[in-house]
Amino acid sequence: MPGIASVRKHFLPFASPSVGEEEIAEVVETLRGGWLTTGPRTRRFEEQFAEYVGASFAVAVNSCTAALHLALDAIGTTPGDEVITTPMTFAATGEVIRYLGATPVFVDIDPVSMNIDPAQIATALDRCQRPRAILPVHIAGLASDLDAITDIAASHGLRIVEDAAHTLPTKHNGRMIGSIGDVSCFSFYSTKTMTTGEGGMATTNDADLAERMRIMSLHGISKDAWKRYTAQGSWYYEILAPGYKYNMPDIMAALGLVQLKRVEERYKRRADIARQYTQAFTELNDFVETPPDATGNSQHAWHLYILKLHLEKLSIDRDAFIEEMKKRNIGCSVHFIPLHLHPYYRDQFGFQPDDFPNAHAVYRRIVSLPIYPRMTDGDINDVIAAVTDICHTHAK
Ligand SMILES: *Cc1c(COP(=O)(O)O)cnc(C)c1O
Repeated sequence: MPGIASVRKHFLPFASPSVGEEEIAEVVETLRGGWLTTGPRTRRFEEQFAEYVGASFAVAVNSCTAALHLALDAIGTTPGDEVITTPMTFAATGEVIRYLGATPVFVDIDPVSMNIDPAQIATALDRCQRPRAILPVHIAGLASDLDAITDIAASHGLRIVEDAAHTLPTKHNGRMIGSIGDVSCFSFYSTKTMTTGEGGMATTNDADLAERMRIMSLHGISKDAWKRYTAQGSWYYEILAPGYKYNMPDIMAALGLVQLKRVEERYKRRADIARQYTQAFTELNDFVETPPDATGNSQHAWHLYILKLHLEKLSIDRDAFIEEMKKRNIGCSVHFIPLHLHPYYRDQFGFQPDDFPNAHAVYRRIVSLPIYPRMTDGDINDVIAAVTDICHTHAK
């Protein structure tokens, strides 16, 4: 292609799951075993997941969205309540608040970490009538300022529900995400750091919240199918509330059990890729800003590597930058289009783009680069070479 230094032969997708022979064997064994829906493998997956993140309880469900919905229900969110959250997130975070008839109260982000800015939460609370919870999103796998958030929640009698979709394995001051807030909600969607195809997990240290989420995850029924149909169970059940159909089947838990064993090794590879990127892009700091790593005893999970462009130093915008990456056979993405810019939230709540100026400004600069264990050293070098070439070719 004219003007392009070198182009990879094959397209490098933005994301690609790591699934090995052990996962395949465990799924096949589940299929042969005759118990496909929620059962012994799901229970084992919940126990091992809870132990891994240091939580007392884990409830496996069929998505992180389901986990977030169940968490907000369990903490008692009712119509008219307000939930403090960040606009810099995926659709799921906002919609679950609406499911319960509650109002999302967006608070702008810190422009460097891209996580909710705790300093602005207090101002937002002044305008709230019935605040119920704070719902931080640990974007890319970097923990939000949970010390500040915990203090604010405690002083205002609020619960903390974490969107932990990016956080396996994230640490905040030495503690795993999953063991800190009232409920933490993980995603096992295909692009996340571990996957069950689709799936999610809610963790908590509160037995009552765990029990409510478990019951509501399966029709509001007081006993699940596994207990009902096995020898120690019986045909009898009671509906305690109009629940949901959010349970995780054993076929998915089979994947999860194997994936969980690989979380640490796959994390190490992603952290290694992030280090290589940051080292290389530091040379380009006129054109790009590298994402901050965790400091001290904290750990960034590196689910995403989000580069921020210095648009004033480039002759192209972010969209064109991504097109240039595509011309070089590399897939990129954007995390995220802030919720307040979407038609639904804009129309429902009358938001203007600059109501959350940091989220709006950073949105125009962000590019997520591929970062996953299946990438080869050659792939990593191709990404670095492409970014370098684009910055130099389109320098202002
Ligand atoms: C992926 C994602 C979700 C939703 O996860 P699902 O398992 O697909 O429901 C929620 N929040 C964030 C920030 C995400 O990236």
